[in-house]
Amino acid sequence: MSVWFVTGASRGLGLEIAKAALERGHSVVATARDPRAIEEALGRSDALLALPLDVTSQDQADAAVRAAVARFGGIDVLVNNAGRGLVGAVEETSDAEARAVFDINVFGLLTVLRAVTPVLRAARGGRILNISSTGGVVAWAGWGVYSATKFALEGITEALRLELAPLGIQVTSVQPGPLRTDFLASSSLAQVERVIDDYASTGGASREWAGANHGLQEGDPAKAAQAVLTVADLPEMPAWLPLGTSTLADVRTKIAAVGAELETWQELSRSTDVVPA
Ligand code: NDP
Repeated sequence: MSVWFVTGASRGLGLEIAKAALERGHSVVATARDPRAIEEALGRSDALLALPLDVTSQDQADAAVRAAVARFGGIDVLVNNAGRGLVGAVEETSDAEARAVFDINVFGLLTVLRAVTPVLRAARGGRILNISSTGGVVAWAGWGVYSATKFALEGITEALRLELAPLGIQVTSVQPGPLRTDFLASSSLAQVERVIDDYASTGGASREWAGANHGLQEGDPAKAAQAVLTVADLPEMPAWLPLGTSTLADVRTKIAAVGAELETWQELSRSTDVVPA
């Protein structure tokens, strides 16, 4: 049995992952800005340690890791799940709105990694699952800055996989499609304040889509959690784990489009090499 450390476990996917890990007999360090929400949802048990962790706080991250090690002796699986959304066209997004979502989705993830990775390195083993998004591979109108946070997560994850493999630690990016959580609710999804009419059919349409689709998302967060548990048990974790039928289609379409453009423009691409004397 393993020790899991999950961020953003108060609700949604993080809560489902914590619950599924407990059900499979693992010990779980479930963290949230308000850990009371975790115990209200999961009850109290010896296998569960609910801790306060706002991922923007290095002090809280370090304290949570110390408490986890003191209680369970180590950490085997880290799930960087905490995150929030932002919808609006790129130009509509203020500096403060962009930084707020980067603070959680990117700098928060780095904060937690700095706290947990030393424990995994010392053990020369462990697994990290970073919760990205279809939006970490594909960007849509109205989701540019949110996608930028998840593209950043993808870059961090891809490099981390290379840096930690020699130390016995595996890393995977999990890319959920729309999951039926609070993600599209106003409690989780920020909307840009400044609306520019020229973006009505792009950024504005995405805002409307988000408002109309809360509760109608195709993905079941409990099933997504089971997939996360399954992949964490594999001898070799994949680099990417797309979740959901639409995600598979969207990622395939993106890869095919990039591949086709590479073919079309390969001569121009090659033309910039220094020609050996
Ligand atoms: P929810 O909004 O239901 O849950 C988000 C979780 O993140 C909550 O537990 C929330 O805690 C937590 N969180 C937000 N800010 C912080 C913070 N500063 N520190 C600690 N925790 C924080 O959404 P999901 O469960 O759907 O989202 C989970 C992950 O999945 C996110 O990374 C999201 O980007 C990703 N994702 C979601 C998709 C979807 O359609 N649902 C699609 C693709 C990716 P609190 O209760 O305190 O606000």
